[in-house]
Amino acid sequence: SARQAAITAVTNYQPSSPPMNFTQTTTQQLFNANVFSKAVMKDRLPKPIYKSLMKTIESGDKLDSSAADIVASAMKDWAIEKGATHYAHVFYPLTGSTAEKHDSFLTPSGDGSAIAEFSGSQLIQGEPDGSSFPTGGIRQTFEARGYTIWDVTSPAYILENPNGTTLCIPTAFVSWTGEALDKKTPVLRSMQALNTQAQRILALFGKTDGALVSSTAGPEQEYFLIDRNFFFARPDLLNCGRTLFGAKPPKGQEFDDHYFGAIPERVLAYMLECERELFKLGVPVKTRHNEVAPGQYEIAPMFEFANIATDHQQIVMMVLSKIATKYGMTCLMHEKPFAGVNGSGKHVNWSMGSSSQGNMLDPGETPHENAQFLLICAAVIRAVHLYQGLLRAVVASASNDHRLGANEAPPAIISIFLGDQLTDVFEQIKGGGANSSIPRGTLTVGVDVLPPLPKDAGDRNRTSPFAFTGNRFEFRAVGSNQSIAGPLVAMNTIIAESLDYCATELENATAGDPSKLNSALQTLLADIMEKHGSIVFNGDGYSDEWHEEAKKRGLLNLKTTADALPVLKEQAIKDLFSKYGVLSGRELESRLETYLEQYCLSVKVEANTTIEMARTMIFPAAIRYQSQLATTCANLKLIGYEFDTDTLDKVTELVKALQDSIVDLETAMSNHDCADSIAEANYYCNSVIPAMNFVRQYCDELEDYVADDMWPLPTYQEMLFIR
Ligand code: ADP
Ligand code: MG
Repeated sequence: SARQAAITAVTNYQPSSPPMNFTQTTTQQLFNANVFSKAVMKDRLPKPIYKSLMKTIESGDKLDSSAADIVASAMKDWAIEKGATHYAHVFYPLTGSTAEKHDSFLTPSGDGSAIAEFSGSQLIQGEPDGSSFPTGGIRQTFEARGYTIWDVTSPAYILENPNGTTLCIPTAFVSWTGEALDKKTPVLRSMQALNTQAQRILALFGKTDGALVSSTAGPEQEYFLIDRNFFFARPDLLNCGRTLFGAKPPKGQEFDDHYFGAIPERVLAYMLECERELFKLGVPVKTRHNEVAPGQYEIAPMFEFANIATDHQQIVMMVLSKIATKYGMTCLMHEKPFAGVNGSGKHVNWSMGSSSQGNMLDPGETPHENAQFLLICAAVIRAVHLYQGLLRAVVASASNDHRLGANEAPPAIISIFLGDQLTDVFEQIKGGGANSSIPRGTLTVGVDVLPPLPKDAGDRNRTSPFAFTGNRFEFRAVGSNQSIAGPLVAMNTIIAESLDYCATELENATAGDPSKLNSALQTLLADIMEKHGSIVFNGDGYSDEWHEEAKKRGLLNLKTTADALPVLKEQAIKDLFSKYGVLSGRELESRLETYLEQYCLSVKVEANTTIEMARTMIFPAAIRYQSQLATTCANLKLIGYEFDTDTLDKVTELVKALQDSIVDLETAMSNHDCADSIAEANYYCNSVIPAMNFVRQYCDELEDYVADDMWPLPTYQEMLFIR
């Protein structure tokens, strides 16, 4: 059987690629080797051009077209020296994936020869046929044109292939009317919005150097590795990225023997090659380790500016997938590939800062620095409380629904973990709650120094979806398979809105008199904690008590994507995004439509795969076993033995239940006629998924009865433990 063949192949695995090490080429030499970095630009561009390009990158000034021609030409020469034959505008459609359109540098010159050409306008703008990318109705097919526009702030790079290399240029993807069709455009817009509001806050503290304030992001990526032979023996993994069937293995993750254990040889070789590739592309990968579940791992880079971190994150996912094949493995980035085993997330660490201010979520050492830190913290608290629904909506997907609230990932209820010290500080500012042991108002903002706040070194409170970890916030509800763009756009924008609110309050209260700042701050912070403090929760997010308590506090608990996505329709959310120029009403609606459609499509593919596998793989195995049992029974009876039919009865009962459940699922799939996409998503959520779960339940029970040599699918045990 395919399963047996897979096991044999896996146990006979021989590494094919020669071992690599970093002695021939050091990491220093590798880092940025394939990037058109600032250093390369400085080296290759005329000084004035380099200067104006840096100005464009740092302050967003427009690059004039003659400069663009010179940059393009230098970029082309550099790329051709590296063996490039083509250039590609790389863009990030709403599917969350990465798309590329490749064009050759070669242009026929008319006399029968050809020359390599690359003009400034080709660098700046491209026109891919975008008709097959989701637009959520923004662009009709008759106006299928979409444009890719060079993102000057994200460096171009070379992608290598044994047969040739390509110059890749990160771009934004917009419709001919200028509306965003991609994930990058709103990231850039939201960063601008954050900067504008942050400058007002800094001005209140007398800091007017104007250095650009950017959001920074450090995403930690979790993933599973399984042998490719198992992957191909499982149509569910192939079609859906997760197992739709599979009984719990006798040994799961309960021994906790995998986390931070020694990394298996094949996996380590794989990690090293991934890191090598990522270094070359300028991705500053820093940490690697085993994760909690068997077969689960994590990779995390150093944080970077949010837009660059977003592009790099897409590169990380691409490299993880690509290299896995070379090592005979498949990298599963689905949020829940295996039921009953931990899922994978992507913790997005977020902060903001500038070249002159450094990290603005660093508490600092003087009362003055502390005051600014507390203000930004309070702004985050207010933002998360006001826009908790939005934060849930931007991490909503069919696959992440399996993870959130599954007792190993944060619950679907959004709350903030501040840690005891910082919570105390805010309690003191508020004046002490009724049951607080802290005397009222013992901390004066701007006068007292904060107690040292511990840096949360590990994931000590993994149960919190949004945690302060000493000098940044960590948004942990993001799914392993998602682009981090959406979460970053949401964080940047809601915090920009909150900073706007705070700046306005403080500007009004101080009326230009800096000596009034501290008392105005005290009042503002106390007021924010009074109104929004209910979002702070330091306890166990997995507990039932928290669900009860959260309800009492009036916090949202949007359990599924079908519950969460409609938040994007709310007037407050539309106003938020349009006020800060991040997404227009139409752009937001188009996103909602696209995500709803993706949700329905994912569930649909899962349901179809469930039906097919249950009917053509599991049912036949079950009746073969049933028939063997029946034959044995009949034969024994014939020669006068009484045979206990318990097993036969159970298998027969399960086979019957399985047959019925398949029919029910089919009926559910054929029976729907929904008014709009929200109704459709609800239908998939409330009718199709439960029907699918029944099919799985009977199949998983059968797995525990059917003779092992007859079972057609690689088991959890095999996939998770054989490497
Ligand atoms: P942990 O497991 O404790 O969360 P990791 O080292 O795995 O720690 O990941 C921490 C992540 O947080 C890294 O990607 C790191 O670069 C990022 N980070 C640190 N400081 C900041 C910051 N100021 N802004 C954004 N991300 C940050
Ligand atoms: Mg972490």
